[in-house]
Amino acid sequence: MSEHRKWHGHLGTVLNSKDGFDVLDCQTCGFAHIVPIPTQDELTKVYEHEYYSTEKPWYLERSREDLEWLEVVYDERYDTFEELLHEGRRRILDVGSGPGFFLLRGVEKGWEAVGIEPSAQASRHARELGLDIVEGFLSEESASVLGQFDVINMSEVLEHIPSPAEFLRLVKGMLHGGGLLCLSVPNDYNALQMALRQACGYDPWWVAPPHHINYFTFDSLSHLLETSGFDVLIRETSFPMELFLLMGDDYVGDDQRGRECQARRKAFELNMVRAGQGHLKRDLYRALAALGAGRHVVLFARKR
Ligand SMILES: [Zn+2]
Repeated sequence: MSEHRKWHGHLGTVLNSKDGFDVLDCQTCGFAHIVPIPTQDELTKVYEHEYYSTEKPWYLERSREDLEWLEVVYDERYDTFEELLHEGRRRILDVGSGPGFFLLRGVEKGWEAVGIEPSAQASRHARELGLDIVEGFLSEESASVLGQFDVINMSEVLEHIPSPAEFLRLVKGMLHGGGLLCLSVPNDYNALQMALRQACGYDPWWVAPPHHINYFTFDSLSHLLETSGFDVLIRETSFPMELFLLMGDDYVGDDQRGRECQARRKAFELNMVRAGQGHLKRDLYRALAALGAGRHVVLFARKR
């Protein structure tokens, strides 16, 4: 029997519990999230002082190691923006710009690029690359300083935001009419993960409170965007990393093996691109996205 829970107007079935938090499949919000929802003040403390230094000490180093492959991913994203936008409109904001490699690629392609990033360490790195970075969280206050954009990109951000609908209203206000929003979040509770739970008895390793607050699917994130004043144009995903687990490569909690799996995935994608089959790789991932599979939910949407 699934347990129901109500918390400050949030109501739904409890999917899992971990470290004093429940993951609620929230009927009120239309997507799953943890309760209690941490406050922005609690999160600010965690991010500004701990995130890159304590939680992800390897982050900058690995971004450099993955750079050739990341640039392929980034190039595809900029190509999509350019296909969807009217010519001559090229001002982009990357929310959670991290070490800055995504924006740097944009600058190299002639985009006017701005980043906002709460980590001091990552901001410093991005500035050393010559990028325009505001250090901090996106808020009403910082939004008024940043101005208006043709594209806003948010990779692995929205799952960490205490009130995503409110956040999307703020983001929408920063886009020019017809501007684009690209969101990438983990594809949680997907069918391949559920297969692993059923067949191999895995605990839901993707549940990670308090940082990881929201647990989106293609449908729940599309719904949230549609009700926030956006039209979803394209659904994409990234390599379904769960395939490695299903084939017996247990990388959960095994960093070394995780990197080995990542290396094989990179080899697959880079070899496809080198062979001139980048479009086939992309079509494969769009087909996976249509099935609700793949490691990330990636949506391109236009402000209505
Ligand atoms: Zn809710």
